Amino acid sequence: MRRKLLLGNWKMNKTSAEAKEFALQSRPLAEKAKLNNIDLGVAPTNLSLATVKENASKDMIVSAQNVHFKESGAFTGEVSIPMLKEFNIDWVLIGHSERRAYDNETNEKCNLKIKALIANDMVPVYCVGETLDEFDAGKTKDVVGKQVREGLKDLTKDDVKKLVVAYEPVWSIGTGKNASTDIAQDVCKFVRDVLKELFGEVADEIRVLYGGSVKPDNIKAYLSCKDVDGALVGGASLKIDSYEALLNNIL
Ligand code: PEP
Repeated sequence: MRRKLLLGNWKMNKTSAEAKEFALQSRPLAEKAKLNNIDLGVAPTNLSLATVKENASKDMIVSAQNVHFKESGAFTGEVSIPMLKEFNIDWVLIGHSERRAYDNETNEKCNLKIKALIANDMVPVYCVGETLDEFDAGKTKDVVGKQVREGLKDLTKDDVKKLVVAYEPVWSIGTGKNASTDIAQDVCKFVRDVLKELFGEVADEIRVLYGGSVKPDNIKAYLSCKDVDGALVGGASLKIDSYEALLNNIL
């Protein structure tokens, strides 16, 4: 049985003071989520990771939004795995479409990062999804299949057990344009089928999330889909009231 997962992606939002306030307000929500067998988390900016970890419930997942695959070196502006581990941060978003679009995050680079995270017993949340042009051209499964195969290249069945995959159609992120639940289910199932082809039955243990303009009023419909195990939420995870409504609507 796969546990539901609700993960907020704060992107480049919130100062540390704002992140701390949210972390304190989120404490009862994390308890409520735990009682209902739901994993709850947020991905703040690097500068707020420590304060959120310190002030949120210990049951709250605190995820970074990116990491470098090398342990140290001449990589100005980057953060390494040991730096995250020092603050007990063991989840990281990999390959978010904004990083793919603006920071040259290729499938190959994602693969190096995912392998480094797994070697360090950390949880990668691997984001995949097609652009509007690719969707319109009917290439969704070609693109997503390639992202999954190349991003997870050389991993073993044991490696992928902790992995989370998030299917996020790029045309739906931050746009208010929702993918239908049929599309979400179809592509999340497709992701699971590719995982099954690559890694066998362990694919049934891997959580596949949907992301893209998920809001309190539509989250329940997405999570009712058989192969959608949770949601990666940007805009609607920023305010505590909306974040609470997201959780309440999937209890
Ligand atoms: C995201 O940032 O991963 C995301 C899905 O954003 P939004 O919910 O705002 O579309």
